[in-house]
Amino acid sequence: MPASLVRILKSCAESALTLFYPDVCQYCQEGRATRTEGYVCSGCWRHVRFIVPPTCDRCGLPFEGEISDVFECANCREMDLHFVHARSAVAAKDMVLEIIHRWKYQRHLWFEPFLAGLLIREAAPALRTQGWDLLVPVPLHSQKQAEREFNQAEHLAAHLAKAIALPVNNRLVRRVTPTRTQTQLSRRERSENMRRAFAPGPDAGAARGKRIVLIDDVLTTGATTSACAQVLKASGAREVCVWTVARGLLH
Ligand SMILES: [Zn+2]
Ligand SMILES: [Zn+2]
Repeated sequence: MPASLVRILKSCAESALTLFYPDVCQYCQEGRATRTEGYVCSGCWRHVRFIVPPTCDRCGLPFEGEISDVFECANCREMDLHFVHARSAVAAKDMVLEIIHRWKYQRHLWFEPFLAGLLIREAAPALRTQGWDLLVPVPLHSQKQAEREFNQAEHLAAHLAKAIALPVNNRLVRRVTPTRTQTQLSRRERSENMRRAFAPGPDAGAARGKRIVLIDDVLTTGATTSACAQVLKASGAREVCVWTVARGLLH
């Protein structure tokens, strides 16, 4: 199909979406919410839990109580993480977690501006002042991407890139093994499993000397993003940090 026809069909599909979906929150089906708001109303917005300090200095895990010093959580002390730090916009629970699941697994793509907005709101101010060179979405295995029809990390990276005017490169690292569901595995098994999941991509040379921001939707133990960061570092990246929309809480 020629590219111009694809573009026309795409814009028709988008107008159809606006026609079929009235300005109603697609989460509670009650409040008013527009397409640019990702169809989440202001009432539902109140359920969003932004990650606030104190957090683990390394992985961004929120910690209850007072901490005045630099603090690293037990998970980070146990793991050999290859990113300098990971940060997330919001807690992966309740409404946000459900919206992420619907977006990812049921292709409720109309929630995307809402999720990208959360990431941009928290990540953009920090990233703008830190001198990063480019964004790299965590790759999906081709088999998984074919099933899901899109890579959620690529979509998020594209939105963030536009907001902070940084390039995206999704050819620096690739996923070589489709990893099975990791929830049954211990932390150590997860990271061992993950270590072999990524390999340098066709553009790996472009990582040399660069300060790279890895993008994903959810971070839990950091095993996936750390394995990905390890490949980028091995390709010569100077530094790798991680930003995700949501942070899975371990407890
Ligand atoms: Zn609502
Ligand atoms: Zn930590």
